Amino acid sequence: MRPRDFAALSGTAFDVLVIGGGIHGLATALDASARGLKVALVEAGDFAAATSFNHQRTAHGGLRSLQAGRIDHARESIHERRALARIAPRLLRPLPFIIGTYRSVIKSRLALRAAFKFDSWLGRHRNQGIEPELHLPPAKLTSRAATLKLFAGVRPDGLTGGANWYDYQIVHTNRLAIAFAEGCDARGAVLVNYAEALAPLKENAASAEATAPEGRIAGMRVRDVLTGAEAEVRARLTINAAGARAGEIMKMFGVTRDFPLAKAMNLVTSKPASDIALAAPSPKGYMLTLVPWHGRALVGTWQSDTLATPADLAPTAAEIDAFIADANAAFPALRLTRADVTLVHRAIVPAERAGSPVRFLSAPEILDHAKDGAPGAMSVVGIKYTTARSVGARAAAAAARALGGSTRRTDTDTAILPGAGIADHEALAIETARAVHLELAPPIIRHLMDVYGDRAAAIVRIMAERSEWRMPLVPGRPTVGAEGIHAIRHEMAATLSDIVIRRTELGAMEHPGADLVKAMAAIAAEELGWDADRRDREIAAVDAFYC
Ligand SMILES: Cc1cc2nc3c(=O)[nH]c(=O)nc-3n(C[C@H](O)[C@H](O)[C@H](O)COP(=O)(O)OP(=O)(O)OC[C@H]3O[C@@H](n4cnc5c(N)ncnc54)[C@H](O)[C@@H]3O)c2cc1C
Repeated sequence: MRPRDFAALSGTAFDVLVIGGGIHGLATALDASARGLKVALVEAGDFAAATSFNHQRTAHGGLRSLQAGRIDHARESIHERRALARIAPRLLRPLPFIIGTYRSVIKSRLALRAAFKFDSWLGRHRNQGIEPELHLPPAKLTSRAATLKLFAGVRPDGLTGGANWYDYQIVHTNRLAIAFAEGCDARGAVLVNYAEALAPLKENAASAEATAPEGRIAGMRVRDVLTGAEAEVRARLTINAAGARAGEIMKMFGVTRDFPLAKAMNLVTSKPASDIALAAPSPKGYMLTLVPWHGRALVGTWQSDTLATPADLAPTAAEIDAFIADANAAFPALRLTRADVTLVHRAIVPAERAGSPVRFLSAPEILDHAKDGAPGAMSVVGIKYTTARSVGARAAAAAARALGGSTRRTDTDTAILPGAGIADHEALAIETARAVHLELAPPIIRHLMDVYGDRAAAIVRIMAERSEWRMPLVPGRPTVGAEGIHAIRHEMAATLSDIVIRRTELGAMEHPGADLVKAMAAIAAEELGWDADRRDREIAAVDAFYC
């Protein structure tokens, strides 16, 4: 990816300015760039550090939508699950799920058999164009005995058997977001993280193009969060993909719309998990899943009973305790305590406008604010990481329609994202090491391939530059300093948290340990010219992330 360049935002007349570098903003920018539009994207923090970091890592098909009677969403989810497997095969793996079936109408085997049949028909092309190792077997019903064996702690009274289906796990979610960002960059978009949109630019109402009394939205004033500098970013269309803050941006546009929000959480735990994901209802009736992630149990998704605001993001002790109680009720064999929770995923997400109890928004929204008296502005409100690509593609098509560009389908559902393909990465890494006269220990090669795929070769070249960049940062772990340098030079990492939590994924599940953080901080400080005070603040910010 090209280095971060805040200045590149001004002085160019963009076709589209996307606000927000979560997965929906990135997907919108990717598809708009694929249409030949000149695109800029500004992200107030780091790419995919908000809701898009805090999800449960499953690319799920249509079963839940089918249960809700939303066949259109089920179809879109199945299509997008396949699209992710095509564009990022290295970062996904098939994930089996099991749920107990009981003597009741909706949970009965008959109902599930019917749902599976329909799901299987909708998903009959689910493996088309997919690498064989990512093929998903059809869903099936399992016997009571098999279910008791596979699902330790499943509620036994009334259990008639189980239902077993497959989705994907996004094993390296942060790497997937970076692959989307790299894809945008490769297609010519200008992406800048730590760039906050402050206020809309309006075309002079007297100008020929102005159609609304206040004038057309013509971009945003944007602040460089790292330096305090400001720039006017001009664009023919401004697309708000600001996640939980989309309502605030709509207000800036002058749009008055209800934008209710709810709170959601997952628990990342140190509890070991088997290879099969478990699903069971919480005592309150919402579905919980226990997903194995790098061998540990990741439990989600808890949702608040009441509406929330972006300021409510931090989970309270009472909320975490209530979630642990729900998780233990759904999965009694888990025996989860506070001490087992290594990280709480938390996010504020769009909710339905009406209804009690509060429910997550059930369908994505693409809003053209010309209809709200704010021409030149749109909003994209997403609900699922899985479907972000198609929601982004639909938003980009709407943008192209408004701007007179190509509305034809693009290749963003088939073109492999940079660094996300499957190839012989080991041979490439070894060849590169040979070329730069390095001998790599097998655990280091395996680690680099697993996390970075073909980007491992670039890291190996950096390892050759300095001896301290090729040594493991701490004994017994394969992480090397060159990974931090690569994140800074090629992936726009600007803070220690970017490096430790989102680029190297060292801290994606838990605090990676003070020694490792200190060692990476020393490397980042030298590369980025931080003084001791700044370095200590960066370390403190990493520590604070896990509180
Ligand atoms: C607990 C939980 C579990 C989930 N599990 C799954 C799952 O397993 N599978 C699945 O498919 N989906 C899942 N989801 C849903 C999925 O994570 C979200 O739909 C998706 O990540 C939302 O992406 P987004 O881009 O809309 O929002 P975000 O990721 O929040 O991105 C919005 C971005 O806009 C930026 N921004 C805000 N204001 C400004 C501004 N003024 N200027 C510039 N930038 C700004 C923010 O900093 C932020 O980075 C889950 C969600 C939660 C909360």
